[in-house]
Amino acid sequence: MKCWFYCFLLILLSSLSLPAQSNEGTTEKVRLLIVMGGGTYESSVFRFFDTLDGVSYTLVMSDTVAFKEDFRDQYDAVLMYNLSSSLAEPARSNLVRFIESGKGLVVWHHALANYGDWPWWYQEVVGGRYLLRGEGELPASTYRQDESMIARPEKAHPVVSSLGGHPMHLYDETYKGLWISPDVEVLLSTGLSTSDGPLVWVGPYQSARVVVVQPGHGSSAYFNLGFRYILRDAVRWVAGSLE
Ligand SMILES: [Zn+2]
Repeated sequence: MKCWFYCFLLILLSSLSLPAQSNEGTTEKVRLLIVMGGGTYESSVFRFFDTLDGVSYTLVMSDTVAFKEDFRDQYDAVLMYNLSSSLAEPARSNLVRFIESGKGLVVWHHALANYGDWPWWYQEVVGGRYLLRGEGELPASTYRQDESMIARPEKAHPVVSSLGGHPMHLYDETYKGLWISPDVEVLLSTGLSTSDGPLVWVGPYQSARVVVVQPGHGSSAYFNLGFRYILRDAVRWVAGSLE
């Protein structure tokens, strides 16, 4: 008696639960792994991460720890905001596996100076490099803080679509003397003389989406609404949740 009653109840509940299950796909957030460490950070950066809507994140303060195991199943994208001269095994191979599998990568601000001993990384994946010191004919890159600049979208692209084709004002740090690959697709640039020009670009890597965002030194960038949308949309686009 009890058995048939519970079986009936189970079937009824299963059918009632169908609409909730079909919602899952539309509300799914990008699973983001944020890597920091090695740089100096304003504490407001943690509040900034909370403003990235559509994103659920895990923050790790070391690339060696973040990439110590194969993390392809746990995350859709990585946001690198660390500063690290090299990456040892097995972290290096796990990072390669991640992007070779087509997962997304955003390289943010001083992470442009990462892994200067790994040409494949900065030439083929990132398409740019901040040189911490001169190398052969290439002089060291330079930076200048507290710069006021006009940033202009270079083309229509999902990462800069929030600007609607209009320029924006940014008060932030500029870099100059970067090595930048001729194969990058520049999305946002400035004409300011203390900058090389390109501020946001798509990296040359073909197996995964890679976006580089140069501005982002501190709170003047974090709480600039236009900048916040660009970083959020960079994360969503590389993860394949924004087209
Ligand atoms: Zn900085």
